[in-house]
Amino acid sequence: MTYCFSCGKELPKDALYCSNCGSKVVTDTSAVGAPSEELKEALTKMSVEMEKAFNIAAKQVQVAFKTARENMQKAGYKEPVVCSNCGEKNAASAVYCFQCGKSLSEAQPAAKPDEST
Ligand SMILES: [Zn+2]
Ligand SMILES: [Zn+2]
Repeated sequence: MTYCFSCGKELPKDALYCSNCGSKVVTDTSAVGAPSEELKEALTKMSVEMEKAFNIAAKQVQVAFKTARENMQKAGYKEPVVCSNCGEKNAASAVYCFQCGKSLSEAQPAAKPDEST
């Protein structure tokens, strides 16, 4: 229902002018007449925020992939072979100690005999 803002008379909702006082009827022009620039700005801000969110999401996905890749590499990572002769850490694939030349295949790191007695 529309009311004349000037005299308060009840008017048909499609009335453009008050039948009582002749004033122009104001009907929700605040929404219709809102400056489109404001709306545009709001939409721009929104799209910027969304773009930011997308960028953050993309980065998070990249980090997730990187972490997954690193975890896979870690899973395939072999413990270094410790030379029983000199204690040097050699690559898991090493056959001979690069430090002392002892054959690492013969190395038995856990079973080191105690010859102190
Ligand atoms: Zn009126
Ligand atoms: Zn060695």
